[in-house]
Amino acid sequence: MSSEEFRRYGHQIVDWIADYLDQAGTYPVLSQVAPGSTRQALPQQPPQHGESMDAILEDFQRVVLPGVTHWNSPGFMAYFGITGSGPGILGEMLTSALNVNAMLWRTSPSATELEQLTLDWLRQMLGLPAPLFGVINDTASTGVLYALAAAREAIPHLYIRQKGMAGRHELPPLRLYCSQDTHSSVDKAAITLGIGQEGIRKISIDADFRMKPDELEQAILEDLAQGWLPFAVVATVGTTSTSSIDPIPRIADICERHQLWLHVDTSYAGTAAIIPEFRWILEGCERADSLIVNPHKWLFTPLDCSVLFTRRPDVLKAAFSLVPEYLRNNESATDEVPNLMDYGNALGRRFRALKLWMILRYFGQDGIIARLREHIRLARLLARWIDESPNFERMAPTPFSLVCFRAHPKGMDDLDELNALNERIMNTINARGRFFISHTRLNGAMTLRAAIGNLRTTEAEIREFWQQLQEYATI
Ligand code: PLP
Repeated sequence: MSSEEFRRYGHQIVDWIADYLDQAGTYPVLSQVAPGSTRQALPQQPPQHGESMDAILEDFQRVVLPGVTHWNSPGFMAYFGITGSGPGILGEMLTSALNVNAMLWRTSPSATELEQLTLDWLRQMLGLPAPLFGVINDTASTGVLYALAAAREAIPHLYIRQKGMAGRHELPPLRLYCSQDTHSSVDKAAITLGIGQEGIRKISIDADFRMKPDELEQAILEDLAQGWLPFAVVATVGTTSTSSIDPIPRIADICERHQLWLHVDTSYAGTAAIIPEFRWILEGCERADSLIVNPHKWLFTPLDCSVLFTRRPDVLKAAFSLVPEYLRNNESATDEVPNLMDYGNALGRRFRALKLWMILRYFGQDGIIARLREHIRLARLLARWIDESPNFERMAPTPFSLVCFRAHPKGMDDLDELNALNERIMNTINARGRFFISHTRLNGAMTLRAAIGNLRTTEAEIREFWQQLQEYATI
């Protein structure tokens, strides 16, 4: 592609993006296409000859776009709402233009140093004490896998990295602990690491969906007596189902007493700690061995960008560092700068820090605080309307910007009937196309989740959403 052609289509695409972001709310939020239709609408054989950008962009509009679920829509409130913000999108453009691989410091010193600096800014914004090493991964699912690999590496005298786990009869079975409501990525990490699902002990939750610390300690003691080897606890600030906050200080006490690795998953809610009156949510996290926060969730950063912080980078490095001859370099010999490939499984690393650095600078702490506060205000507004309504009820506390609720018309008390009603409400709203919500199940009850996290969502959307809910309260 000549620079002239690049410039022409580049301008066209930037114009398209600017219009799209303005009009994201005019598309059906949840894509309405039938399964298989996108694939069928395109040639099944690869293109033999090059095609014009005009033809490619035409198919993008005609075929690809209808099959997109619009996470950028102000009506997107499923799972956790996210934002591809302007500075983040521009940062992504520069990242792909530079196309550096940040595996070693020397393969792009700026990529490594900007990552370290930006994550130290983020650390300060979250109120976490130094020193704290940070590294960016694609997702929290990858980050927790790495954190638990480090936790396993930290167990003395087992030499799992060298000897593996298979067929070692002298190796006691490993156990890790998390609550019933912990994200499924922890189960996946345990499966991948050979700890297995039996190696996870799920601790029950209290009426507000928080891990019960007394039960945690009891479980550890029982397991020790039965020959298990407890090695890690995963606690969560902002669970996926309800955004509940596990009692981190008490869990940290238990981890210290039993010398267990404490990993805290703050993927969604951690960024709320940037707001001064929410600083307390990370209380106790200064004692965690590792912690994850996802700027691609509630910090306006386009996917993907997940930060793994650790107080024990030496252990993380011991779990993963392996330097073949062709990657050896002078910098490895000193501790002056890190080679970030040493802190995870991936060798190739995108320059993700650039977009995060641009976002933090563009919005500034004040701008971020104002926007997060607004999301929380909108969630509280919706929660208040629900609380005041005779037809709806809230199903969990609303500490952040996620509202868990269900329709519960007077006189309808059968659980199956209520579940069916709420499922109908969710499907009707999602089919109408203006909003997209998702669900969870709390104590057997089908629960609707409205997750406010998009910068384009305003009070007007929340009012319209509430109107739709009232309209469908008894369908
Ligand atoms: N942890 C929590 C609390 C989450 O809510 C999620 C996803 O929603 C994850 C982890 C997984 O995040 P990722 O998609 O970055 O792997």
